Amino acid sequence: MLYFLCTDFSRIIGHIGQDPKENTGCDMRQKAGKMAIIGIDLGTTNSLASVWKDGRIQLIPNSFGEYLTPSVVSFGDDGEVFVGKIAREMLVTRPERTFREFKRDMGTDKLYRVGDREYRPEELSAFVLRRLKEDAEAFLGEQVTEAVISVPAYFNDDKRCATKSAGKLAGLQVERLINEPSAVALKHHVDQNEMERFIIFDFGGGTLDVSLVDAFENMVEIQAVSGDNFLGGKDFNEKIAAYFYEKNHLAAEGLSREEQGIVLKEAEQLKCRLSEQDSASMTVLLQGREYTLELSNQELIHISTDLFTRMLKPIQKTLNDASAEWEEIDKIILVGGSSKMPTVAKYIKSMCSVEVAADSNPDESIAIGVGMAAAIKMRTGEVKDVILSDICPFSLGVGILGDRFSPIIERNETLPTSRTQYYTTVKNYQSTVNFDIYQGESMVASENLKLGSFTMANIPPAPKGVPVVEVTFLYDINGILDIKCGDGNQTVHKLIVNKSMGLTEEELEKRLKELEQTTIHTKDQEQNRFLIEEAQRLYQECNPQYRERIRQQVEIFETMLERGSAREIREAYVRLAMFLQMLEAHKISFQEFDESFWTQGEDDEP
Ligand code: AMP
Repeated sequence: MLYFLCTDFSRIIGHIGQDPKENTGCDMRQKAGKMAIIGIDLGTTNSLASVWKDGRIQLIPNSFGEYLTPSVVSFGDDGEVFVGKIAREMLVTRPERTFREFKRDMGTDKLYRVGDREYRPEELSAFVLRRLKEDAEAFLGEQVTEAVISVPAYFNDDKRCATKSAGKLAGLQVERLINEPSAVALKHHVDQNEMERFIIFDFGGGTLDVSLVDAFENMVEIQAVSGDNFLGGKDFNEKIAAYFYEKNHLAAEGLSREEQGIVLKEAEQLKCRLSEQDSASMTVLLQGREYTLELSNQELIHISTDLFTRMLKPIQKTLNDASAEWEEIDKIILVGGSSKMPTVAKYIKSMCSVEVAADSNPDESIAIGVGMAAAIKMRTGEVKDVILSDICPFSLGVGILGDRFSPIIERNETLPTSRTQYYTTVKNYQSTVNFDIYQGESMVASENLKLGSFTMANIPPAPKGVPVVEVTFLYDINGILDIKCGDGNQTVHKLIVNKSMGLTEEELEKRLKELEQTTIHTKDQEQNRFLIEEAQRLYQECNPQYRERIRQQVEIFETMLERGSAREIREAYVRLAMFLQMLEAHKISFQEFDESFWTQGEDDEP
């Protein structure tokens, strides 16, 4: 299916391809009292939101004035919930009550325990979405209730449904799910407006998505997608951490969860430093002793060979699926945080002769693209249309006799698509047929991912092979599956698929009520709270000889927060922030720590 997108986002004023009667520009929409639809990049590591405002797509700042909100949720002892930057600090200070990377578990039955309460991944995502919604409301000065959310192209039906549920739990009606690489392709084509065939290589914190795109004039056509749901920056962090343990003759099991968390965090920072320089080091204080690892980019390639090799598979698969040759590809565009690793571009370049271009803004491209899709949804119009066509990334079908897979929708079909297959009974006078629904490419049904099952009952008595059972799969533009089934008399029954995972409507309502009772930490105190959390983390991470100093500084700041004037609080804030900054900068090598800064600002200490 095709839906309409406009090319000139700087001048959205008119028609974008729907009934002109319905067409309203953004301003008209606002005048008519309609609310803005925000675009959300709900990332594994960080999330961002964007919206059409003042005639252009704008990223929405959070209360720190930053666009990236870490996808981290932490539960305070008093029932308060922290989201984003503060929660990220709590990964070290309160690892047992702090969660991240839950996007990877969306649509699964994984539960995150906090005290006697368990949270599903979509509930944790809902906290992040709620925070983004609040930031958007503060930015726009109006209520926000609708959103378009991006998901990895390779997200299955369960994960997509879970994302929609997360939106609902956050008080957002999810108008549309858009595949992340499709959002980037849209942004890229709107920016470049060139006729080209390119690959979007979206390498994030937890997933890799690869899409082959054909863009010309007013058309952005996704031709094939592939990916790896379990390959991302996190895997490199783990490789570096494992190498750190190996080199220092340490066993991770012998360390506390907090200490393991610190090692992983330092490993990630080392990885990021390697994007700027050819070699870097990390130093971690564990049980009173400092351990160090020096690592070069070459060594990183060496210890992660299997990860690099896995990157190529989805690229190869998209080319095969679209029957495309390397010569037909104009360039590979790298997006996503992990694409910042120079080794990634180097590796891909070494494997093909195509131009490999880093996206000018890898952290923000998806958010901007999804914001554009949201602007379209808002029916903010422009004369020239861009049509975006997306595809089904995997085959969908049912299991039949002998554990064989019978695909109904083949992968890479353009969305939305509707396909019908006919089945019959295997026993005489069989009155019921059970179907298991699968997603995948294996001809053995049970080797694919089971999405659910349904039963067709009351089949009129007849010898085997006579009844005709018609099964229709409808796969919509959000990548969500709907199934219809009818018997030979063409009486069509709408079937509700029994999802093996996921929340039912009633559960969703119940959880929604519970979540509404939960308070997310108030935004106005966030900066102060963040500073204290940062200090607590550094307290744990740095050499004990500096701990007393940190404690004192925090106490002074807390006293000011309780009793001080606004000016005094601001001054104490700046002093503590500077102090922590210097501490953080020197943390890398404790031995070389320059004591001189201790005396800075000493005289005017309150
Ligand atoms: P994303 O999900 O696209 O936000 O990507 C997050 C991932 O990108 C995380 O694993 C980060 O560690 C990684 N990342 C972010 N910045 C860099 C950098 N400068 N160098 C290497 N990896 C990075």
